[in-house]
Amino acid sequence: MKALFIRVGVEIQRAGGPESATPPNGWIPLALAQQPAPYSFDSKLPEVGTTIFTVMSAMAAEEGALNLSQGFPDFDGPPELLERVQHYLTHGYNQYPPMAGVQGLREAVAGKVLDLYGLPADPETQITVTSGATEALFCAITAVVRPGDEVILFDPAYDSYEPGVRLSGGVARHVALEPPAYGVDWDQVRRAITPRTRLVIFNTPHNPTGTVWSRGDLRCLEALALEHGFHVLSDEVYEHIIFDGQAHQSVCRFPDLWRRSFVVSSFGKTYHTTGWKIGYCVAPEDLTAEFRKIHQFVTFTSNTPVQHGLADFLNAHPEHHLELGAFYQRKRDLFCALLEGSRFSLTPSAGTYFQLLGYKGISDERDSELAVRLTREAKIASIPVSIFYADGADHKMLRFCFCKDDRTLRQGAEILLGL
Ligand code: PMP
Ligand code: GLN
Repeated sequence: MKALFIRVGVEIQRAGGPESATPPNGWIPLALAQQPAPYSFDSKLPEVGTTIFTVMSAMAAEEGALNLSQGFPDFDGPPELLERVQHYLTHGYNQYPPMAGVQGLREAVAGKVLDLYGLPADPETQITVTSGATEALFCAITAVVRPGDEVILFDPAYDSYEPGVRLSGGVARHVALEPPAYGVDWDQVRRAITPRTRLVIFNTPHNPTGTVWSRGDLRCLEALALEHGFHVLSDEVYEHIIFDGQAHQSVCRFPDLWRRSFVVSSFGKTYHTTGWKIGYCVAPEDLTAEFRKIHQFVTFTSNTPVQHGLADFLNAHPEHHLELGAFYQRKRDLFCALLEGSRFSLTPSAGTYFQLLGYKGISDERDSELAVRLTREAKIASIPVSIFYADGADHKMLRFCFCKDDRTLRQGAEILLGL
């Protein structure tokens, strides 16, 4: 039988090719040519969809619902900060800043970290400004996690951690925090550690539960890190939003632990400017050097006028971050007081600007279904907490954001009281 080949060139010659079973150079079998492999894209993150924050905020807008889902204030940053940024914007500070961030801002962060936590961090080699904490988290994970490495996460876990781990070929090991206290069971953490454990990621004050880690928790983590030699990524974006006289237990307060850690924070939370997306990472010199290798190719640097404005404001108004806890504690208290008499159960948040509400007394729906239904029918949007558990554990909790004007909080509470 005559084997058919085609030659792909300026002209495509069908049939009539050479008779031999093996084609000469430039000829390919006709069967192959006629049936190209169907194109299909093979995702690196097949189960990852759009983040719950984007989904719920979009639904709130579409449904005309009060949006207490995604965490962002409905009020502006301090007028003087806005004025400083505007000053730099209109006075020629609009070209690339240094890759590691504006010097003055890194110095201001160094001053703050020294004053608050007693850590003498070098702005040249140990502090990097990033495009939000999100970028810092991604760079830190990418800097240390190699294929096959294990990374311990505490569920409910902020949604950006695991995708970062997986994109580096790492494997997440989840330790669940259980309601109502959401405390850490350190024996369970110990059991989750293996010789492959490369990194532990944690977050205090904690989104979404509003719990804070104690000095004892940090000591346990430090002991395990020193014994097993893993790195730590500490997400401290709510470091200044902590209530009832508690002190934030930054990893910066624990020099032996910090020696192997990345500490990440964000100006978005502190200055009510989540849309500016400026954060930073404080890490020892060797880790910072590795971190910057990634940062320089992810964003290279972050916008100039905002960095200068933040530096000025941080230096001129250290009282702003010192008073932030009291500012949000008043809002938490207002929101919780307004909910007295509702059918929700709550433990007042100890930090962050999120309040969990348990709804077992109202419905037995899955939290994700209830969040959608409340957005559509009751016109109030929240975040279902099961989304932050790798196994989807549904403890019948919704997260509500209270970084809102008092009027918005009253409107929200009125809706919730009616349920
Ligand atoms: N970590 C946690 C726990 C957060 O809640 C957020 C955002 N709200 C981030 C990181 C990201 O912060 P940024 O907006 O500065 O990227
Ligand atoms: N961290 C914010 C929250 O928890 C949202 C940030 C985002 O939308 N990526 O609501």
